[in-house]
Amino acid sequence: MSEFLTIDTASGVVTEEIIEPLKVFGENHPMLSVAIPEYKEAIPNPSMKNLVARLKMTMKLYNGIGLSANQCGIFQRVFVIGTEHFQIACINPKVVAKSEELSRENEGCLSFPGMFLRVERPTWVDAEFYDETGAFKQIRLEGLTAKCYLHELDHMNGVKFIDHAGPLAVQMARQKQGKLVKQIVRIQKNAKKMGNKK
Ligand SMILES: [Zn+2]
Repeated sequence: MSEFLTIDTASGVVTEEIIEPLKVFGENHPMLSVAIPEYKEAIPNPSMKNLVARLKMTMKLYNGIGLSANQCGIFQRVFVIGTEHFQIACINPKVVAKSEELSRENEGCLSFPGMFLRVERPTWVDAEFYDETGAFKQIRLEGLTAKCYLHELDHMNGVKFIDHAGPLAVQMARQKQGKLVKQIVRIQKNAKKMGNKK
């Protein structure tokens, strides 16, 4: 949780809001399979500001580098990308140009914990979007940031990263995911046992 101050510019009244993280839903949440329509409200506005703050907080909490509103069951065309030190919100994101060159990189998704797949995507994109302050952004994204932007843009269109991989690759990734989950459960059980001995 963190405090979030909003100032009403007309009255000068400062309100203190408590920002709480959102719940990230698993791969079967129906909102992950539908295209999210364009965001039509004027920005900035308090509810979008609040949503972006919560998305950024949640992404950090889960150690993610990207998180879409619909992964949290929120039907808004917005996602956040970035690392611990730098995050941007992308409202009504678009790709206006992309590299012809493609590369295949390992990807994960907070809706598919412990699952990793190699996904082929352009190496750079020219992106256009609005941030939560209402600023229009036109930037070229490269490497991991471009991959991440495209992964989240897919979420906005109801596309999951497993949709980019063949059935065999998905099956192998699922097996590895299963092993990883078992390992985590075992570690947690052992940690509990050790805790009991004390
Ligand atoms: Zn994802």
